[in-house]
Order: sequence, then C-alpha cells, then structure tokens
Amino acid sequence: MHEIVDLRSDTLTLPTPAMRQAMAEAEVGDDVWEEDPTVKRLEAMAAKRFGKEAGLFVVSGTMGNLVGVLSHTEPGQEIILDADAHIYHYEVAGAARIGGLQTRPLQTERGFPSPEQVRSAIRPINLHVPATGLVCLENTHNRHGGTVCSPEEIAAVGQVAHAHGVPVHLDGARIFNAAVVLKREVREFAREADSVQFCLSKGLGAPAGSLLVGSRDYVARARRWRKRLGGGLRQVGVLAAPGIVALTTMVDRLAEDHDNARLLAEGLSQLPGIRLDLERVQTNIVIFQVDPPGGAEALVRETTLRKVKIHQINPTSIRLVTHKDVDREDIHRALEVFRELCRGWPRSSK
Ligand SMILES: *Cc1c(COP(=O)(O)O)cnc(C)c1O
Repeated sequence: MHEIVDLRSDTLTLPTPAMRQAMAEAEVGDDVWEEDPTVKRLEAMAAKRFGKEAGLFVVSGTMGNLVGVLSHTEPGQEIILDADAHIYHYEVAGAARIGGLQTRPLQTERGFPSPEQVRSAIRPINLHVPATGLVCLENTHNRHGGTVCSPEEIAAVGQVAHAHGVPVHLDGARIFNAAVVLKREVREFAREADSVQFCLSKGLGAPAGSLLVGSRDYVARARRWRKRLGGGLRQVGVLAAPGIVALTTMVDRLAEDHDNARLLAEGLSQLPGIRLDLERVQTNIVIFQVDPPGGAEALVRETTLRKVKIHQINPTSIRLVTHKDVDREDIHRALEVFRELCRGWPRSSK
C-alpha cells in the first residue's frame, strides 16, 4: 500500500534498490568514444534479445523513435503510421521538424493498420507524389488503451512494406507488456521490423533510457543521428546499469500490472456514468469515457484530493496505468474512491 496511488503513468515508477546499487557500482567510460563497458553490455543484451545485430542506448523513447525514423528516411519522404500513434501525437512533430518528413496517418480499429491498408497507402513511383520512406507500428498501443498485436500481424504488414522496398520501425515502448501477455519472445515481434525502440523507464522501472535495435549499418547511422541531436553522453553506464537490472529482473512481473489493470477495469465498468470497453484492456492501460458533462475534470480533481492521481487525455476520457509502484490494495482503494465519486451519476447507455 502506498500513501498516494499514482495511476497517471508507468513512467512514474521509481528505481528499485537493486537499480540504485547497480548505478553506484557501474563500471563506466566515455560512451561517445564507445568505451563505456556497461552501455556496451546493455546494447549487446538488447540486440540479442531482439534478434538484431546491434543496439543503441538513447535517453528517451522519443529520441529512440526520432533517431530511429531519421536513420531510415530522407527529407521529403512520407511515413505511414496509425492516426493515434505516439510518433504522430506526442513527439512534438520531430519527424516533420527535424526529419523533413510528411506523415500519412491511417484510421484503425485497435491501433494497427492492416496489410491491405498499408498496401494502399504506399505511394506509387510517380513524379507528383512523395516516396514512402517508412512504415511505423506501435505495440502495445498507448492511445488505443494498451492494445496488443501479435508477431504474425506485424509480420504481415512487414512483408507488404518490404515487398515495396519500404522498411518498418516498431515503436515498442511497451513491447515487453505485449510479449508477457501473449507469452511470446520479443524477437518474434521484431522479426519483420527493421528497427525497434523500447523503453526501460516505463513498466520496467529504470530511471531513464530506451534502446534502439537493428542491423549494424542502421545502428551506425543512428549513432551519428544521436550525436547530431546532442544525445551523445559520456559516463552513461550509470544509467545503463539500472537498465540491465530492468531487462533481467523486471519483465516477468509485468503480468501483475496486467492483472491489476483488469481488476481496476472490471470494477470501473460497473459504475454509473462510466463507459469502458473491457476488450481493450489487454495490458496495463485502462482508458474510459465519462458521460456526465464535466465529469472527467471533476474526477481528476476529486480523486487527487483523495490521494488517487489519474490522467485526463481529453474532455471526456481518463487514462489509468498500472505499474510496479501500485499494488493490489492500492487498486482496491482507488476503486473505493471512484465508487464514492460516481455514486448518483446516471447510468450510461453502453
Ligand atoms: C512513452 C512512449 C514513447 C516515448 O517515450 P519517452 O521516454 O517518454 O520519450 C514512445 N512511444 C510510446 C508508444 C510511448 O508510450
């Protein structure tokens, strides 16, 4: 049980004592000179786990995606992605501003474009149109509520893209959540993806950092982009060390977060005024709609006063994320607070 039940994001997780200790004891060197042994160990570990030749430690998922996209493309090209993709909504238009790329958002049901959608979005070779430079996928899908797609679904899209000579980047910020829930290895999701970005600092609990993995040549280009963007860090083994702890000890426990999200979602789905699609609650994210006008804002205000922190994503929607620093008792306490606040609201027509 915690003083405050913080359901705003899994980025709020605090480093574990083992991570703190690993930070203190990390062997370090100048990583721009490629002489930090701890960073090299983490990069090699990540590459192996994803079945790729090389890995690159970057400061954030946003930098991993930006460097990842830029290392595949040329200015003036178009990138295909889901209309709710993190890259499209939450990365300050880095691909456009820095990469000179046009985005081609596709409307999808669960956050994953079908092979047919991708096939018809890939541009023909024609004087008038931009060349398609990249297809981006996201798994699990943040704005769609942590929805999962299978390695086979990714492979099907990947094959279409590759048949047209277009590479695929996978934004796998929460790919380990997908792997745990489907009981598959992350390398299976990565098979038809040319690059994958994943976060150490979300459910895995490390204080900072993401990895970008891909072929040796690709990662060499990415290393240059990282440097150009100011992301070349020196004795950064102090951050890679907790990342190694995260990768080696924090993956399997994600199942607990999924169980807690399910419990939370089932409880919420019973409450008047709340609309929640239980089928979309597949991992550690719970998104729901609040029907009474002003209800979402009121919920944020009133739950906060009761030491339960939640996140409003638009005027009518709330997002909750479970993680290692929220336990079963915290979930029950949060549900108590929601029950108290929703009491008396009219029932939603589902
Ligand atoms: C959080 C997130 C990112 C970006 O990670 P930061 O470390 O916050 O920059 C990228 N993609 C998805 C799907 C995310 O959820």
